[in-house]
Formats: sequence, structure tokens, C-alpha cells
Amino acid sequence: MTTEQTTAPINAWHVAQHQFDLAAEMLNLDPGLRRVLREPRRELTVHFPVKMDDGSVQVFTGYRVQHNLGRGPAKGGIRYHQDVTIDEVKALAMWMTWKCAVVAIPYGGGKGGVIVDPKKLSKKELEGLSRRFFTEIEVLVGPERDIPAPDVNTTPQIMAWFMDTYSMHVGHTVPGVVTGKPISLGGSEGRNEATARGCVYTIVEAAAHLGMDLNTATVAVQGFGNAGNIAATLMVEQGSKVVAVSDSQGGIRNVAGLDIARVLQWKAEHGTVKGFPGAEDITNAEVLETECDILIPAALENQITARNAGSIKARIVAEAANGPTTPEADEILFERGVFLIPDILCNAGGVTVSYFEWVQDLNRDHWTETEVNAKLKTIMVKAFHEVLAQAQQQGVNMRTGAYLNAVQRVADATALRGLYP
Ligand code: NAD
Repeated sequence: MTTEQTTAPINAWHVAQHQFDLAAEMLNLDPGLRRVLREPRRELTVHFPVKMDDGSVQVFTGYRVQHNLGRGPAKGGIRYHQDVTIDEVKALAMWMTWKCAVVAIPYGGGKGGVIVDPKKLSKKELEGLSRRFFTEIEVLVGPERDIPAPDVNTTPQIMAWFMDTYSMHVGHTVPGVVTGKPISLGGSEGRNEATARGCVYTIVEAAAHLGMDLNTATVAVQGFGNAGNIAATLMVEQGSKVVAVSDSQGGIRNVAGLDIARVLQWKAEHGTVKGFPGAEDITNAEVLETECDILIPAALENQITARNAGSIKARIVAEAANGPTTPEADEILFERGVFLIPDILCNAGGVTVSYFEWVQDLNRDHWTETEVNAKLKTIMVKAFHEVLAQAQQQGVNMRTGAYLNAVQRVADATALRGLYP
């Protein structure tokens, strides 16, 4: 890995392949299998037109990648962001393969993205873009083939448009083609909170393992969207004090603790957490290096790097985001004794409840939130202890422990199925 020795941006796909290589090496994986698992199975690029409100036609670019289908249909979110690249989507698809395997749900990995800043679109334009993008990727998606879900900047409303578009094309309602839908359209209770809730279940286990009392713990959260703001709220419910949070425009800090409900209200009114009364404005970089016991990166990739890993004060880093830590930073944190809960374990609650949603849709069933959360907890706690046991047994960090479990499961399934034809 030389990504950080140059000034070029860190390439998430190279990071993902490097993480896989480490595990494949340790598992002494068959070279042929290694070549198969190192690349995505399918990559689709689409350029598609959208009629804008001013009457002009704009062409957008989007992607859908399926990394591996050995353990089941592809599963993974769709991201709308101006910085989306094919390599980012490939990395996210590979991480989904490992994530589904870590928590042992029967899916392969997929991911999608559109290069767009959705904040610059009207609601009508956003709907037009979403419906046309989904139409373009329908060559890959389907309830038995590839089931998208929300990710950065995509919402239950967008999932509803995706579901309706697919259903219109096949002539009947197909709720199981996408998860993260509104409850009234076959969405699952608890899905909205699932990523953060799963993350907090793993933090509770990590704290118990380390002998940390969550009632006196302090927390910093980078990213105040679906994963971040709900994680902050749930940590307060655990008795912890959230001392810093941030969004794309910057962060805020109050060492006495932030009132998260009021910060949410402030963000809804002002579009950012910045300027929140009674807190000091700080930069996103400062949020990461804030004095705290638990750091929850919940924004984008490559936030904790060789440059700042030495300055992280937290004892636990819980990766609600995908890919927030680079391999170099992983090593620095491990050497410094920071306990990192890796993304493919820490944020797997989202895909786990997406799986529950899909099962409910296929069975025309609806579970209670209590049922959903209980099943989620069982899966998250079990996966956490399987990863911890592996990491302790091998003397490696939690990320490598998670990769060893995941890659072994996917490799076994792939080898058992054999090579077609
Ligand atoms: P979201 O769009 O709801 O929120 C993203 C948040 O990050 C926003 O508050 C945004 O302002 C902030 N942000 C963007 N760039 C930032 C920057 N440079 N610094 C600080 N904050 C920044 O998205 P989300 O669904 O919460 O996803 C966040 C992360 O969690 C992503 O890595 C995503 O892949 C991961 N994730 C999400 C889910 C899910 O179910 N939503 C599941 C698993 C993993």
C-alpha cells in the first residue's frame, strides 16, 4: 500500500483489495479463488437523461456493481453524491459481500451510486433521476437477484420511487426489490434506526470487553445523517455524553454534553449543525481528534488516515461509516491500543434489518419493532463475539478478525458451488 505516500486521493478500491489480500494471505486461500474474490462479478455504468425543471435535458452517470453472488443475491445501497466514482462503488460492493458474511445473512455484495449533488435538484428532478436510474439498472436488479437500499443522500422516499418504477415495469407490486422503504409500502419497523442501533449494540459489547462504563463515557460523532444522528441519540440513551458532532459543513463541541434532540432541530432549521447555540464551532478534523472515549465516524471514506491516526484520543472507534479508516491508520490505531470495531461488523445492522424487511416482504408479513430489534441484537452480539474470538486467537486487530471470518465463509460457499461450467 503506497496510497498515502503520494498526494493523490486515497483510492477506496485499492484499500478494499488490500484488506482482502491480508485476509487471503492469512487464510492461505487457493490462488484461483483469490483471483475470483479480488474482482467484482459485474460492473454496470449508465449515462442517462433527466428532464430538468427549466426544460433542459441533463445527462447523469451512475453505477451498479455486484461483487459476489456466492451466498445469495447482491445486496447494497445506492449513494447519490457528487464525488461518486466507479472505484468507490466497487469498494463498497466488496465490503457488502464481507459484511453480509460477517453477520451470516444469505446475500452477496452489491452497491450503486449516481454522480449528483441531490441538494441541487428539485423534488421533481430527484424523482425523475431516481426513476430513470432504476430503469437503467433493471437489467441487474430484482428481488431474487439484486436488492438495493438507502445509502448516503438516499431516503425512504427514493426507495418508494424505485419500488414503484420496478413494479410498473413488471405489472404488479414487488416490495422485495428494494429495502429501506417507508413502512406503509412494506418497509420494516426499525429499519431507519437499524444501522445506528446495530453499531450501538457492538459498542455495548466492546465497552463490556474493555471494562468501560458507558454511563460515564464521552462520544464524538462525525456525520449527522441517518447513521450518525441516530447513533448519537442512542448513545445518550446508554447514558453517555455526546461532546462533539459534525456534518459536511463542520462540527460543534460542548464538553459538558450536547442536547442531541435540540441539535437535530437546529440542523433541520439551518441545514447544518454549525452555529448551534452554547457550543463552539470546530472543524471536521477537530471532531475526529476530540477528547472522548468513543469516536463514531459516520460520514464518508478515508477520514482516519496516517496523518491523524496518532492524534485520535478515543479508546473505541466504532465505524458506522463504510471505509472511514485507511490500512495505515488501522496499524497505527492497533499499535496505540485503540479498539476499532470495523465497518463490516459495526454498521451491519442496516443490512441485517434490510434482510428482515426482504423476508417480511417475500412472506407478506410484518414484524413488530420489538421483534426486529431483538433479532438484530442476537445477530450483532453473536457476530461481535465471533470476530473478537478470531482476533484474539490470531493476535490481529478486529478488522482482520472480521475479514478472516467473512472471507472464509464466502470462499467456502464459492468453492462448494464450484466453477461453472
Ligand atoms: P446520510 O446521507 O444520511 O448522512 C451523511 C452525513 O455525513 C450527513 O450529515 C453529511 O452532512 C455528513 N458528511 C458528508 N460529508 C462529510 C464530511 N466530509 N465530514 C463530515 N460529515 C460529512 O448517510 P448515512 O446513510 O448516514 O451514511 C453515512 C455512512 O454510513 C456512509 O459511509 C454509509 O455508507 C454508511 N452506512 C449507512 C447505512 C444506512 O443504512 N444508511 C448502512 C451502513 C453503512
